[in-house]
Amino acid sequence: MTDITIALSKGRIFDDTAPLLEAAGIVSRDNPESSRKLILLTNRANVRLVIVRASDVPTYVQYGAADLGIAGKDVLLEHGGNGLYQPLDLNIARCRMMVAAPEGFDYDSAVRQGARLRIATKYLQTTREHFADKGVHVDLIKLYGSMELAPLVGLADAIVDLVSTGSTLKANNLRAVEEIMPISSRLIVNQAALKLKRATIVPILNAFSRAVNN
Ligand code: ATP
Ligand code: MG
Repeated sequence: MTDITIALSKGRIFDDTAPLLEAAGIVSRDNPESSRKLILLTNRANVRLVIVRASDVPTYVQYGAADLGIAGKDVLLEHGGNGLYQPLDLNIARCRMMVAAPEGFDYDSAVRQGARLRIATKYLQTTREHFADKGVHVDLIKLYGSMELAPLVGLADAIVDLVSTGSTLKANNLRAVEEIMPISSRLIVNQAALKLKRATIVPILNAFSRAVNN
């Protein structure tokens, strides 16, 4: 029997994905939040889940260590998408990638005046491209988390981060000054696995597609 491995991250992606998996007839035997296992068996003998860091999902699928995965557009843009087929926007884990700056910082006039901006972010590729398209010179400062702190302690003029409700920005006296793009999570498939395991993978893709369009 063909073995199918699906790479997922814990937290909101797993929570939002569980109903879609269920629609495809796949139910995890363990809850990743309470289990320390990194490989989760499912009700289907030929399907297992692997739990990895969100930003590692495309890498597992690219190299075929997982056949399928679910990853945010933010993560996919940074990864580059090499070796990945991205057939379906799942419309889950929705948020927006935004530029945010301290309440007192006049972002629009800094941009108009051609000021060189220091931007802290974990999304280097997307941020570089966004400001290049605008013709704004930026110094990018790579961070791995808590980007909101950077402008408050003088590390950066502004940040690029994901925003959903805006309450974290607000709690730190920041405001969103520009939207870069809407973000949601996509199903990704290893290109070789799709050819070799077509008979198993295509029904899963179809079930996901039906569940999303409901
Ligand atoms: P960690 O939180 O462990 O540092 P992470 O930030 O990569 O890792 P999550 O916070 O679980 O992991 O985010 C996973 C994905 O969920 C992101 O890649 C993004 O696509 C989406 N996401 C992130 N923040 C939000 C949000 N506030 N609202 C909705 N979706 C979000
Ligand atoms: Mg996070």
